[in-house]
Amino acid sequence: MSDCLFCKIIKGEIPSSKVYEDDMCYAFNDISPQAPTHFLVIPKEHISSAAEITAENSVYVSHIFEVIAKLAAEKGMTDGFRVVNNCGESAGQTVHHIHFHVMSGRAFTWPAG
Ligand code: 5GP
Ligand code: ZN
Repeated sequence: MSDCLFCKIIKGEIPSSKVYEDDMCYAFNDISPQAPTHFLVIPKEHISSAAEITAENSVYVSHIFEVIAKLAAEKGMTDGFRVVNNCGESAGQTVHHIHFHVMSGRAFTWPAG
């Protein structure tokens, strides 16, 4: 989508701090980190939210979770990490291109507020 912030980041039209990239996904540091490590993983196909996952596009989600496990191991996130997806306005979704927050380096409370 031409007016999507994260599609622009994938295309390099908006700069970002790259963590990882392959043919299906892109990972980059969050501009407003909520933990010592906080990056976002997004599919290269525009999917607006978790409510739009289908049998046709769910391969992106499974792939992203494989990548998260690989990055967590590479980065030594052995104390644990949190993966967050906000879906919809009331859940706090502000960018309407599905993204998974990966955070680590501090203790997290539950349930999340
Ligand atoms: P949401 O609130 O939709 O779950 O998460 C959106 C995230 O995108 C926020 O954590 C926010 O800090 C991050 N973000 C918004 N704009 C940019 C940007 O231009 N660059 C980067 N790297 N992160 C962004
Ligand atoms: Zn997009």
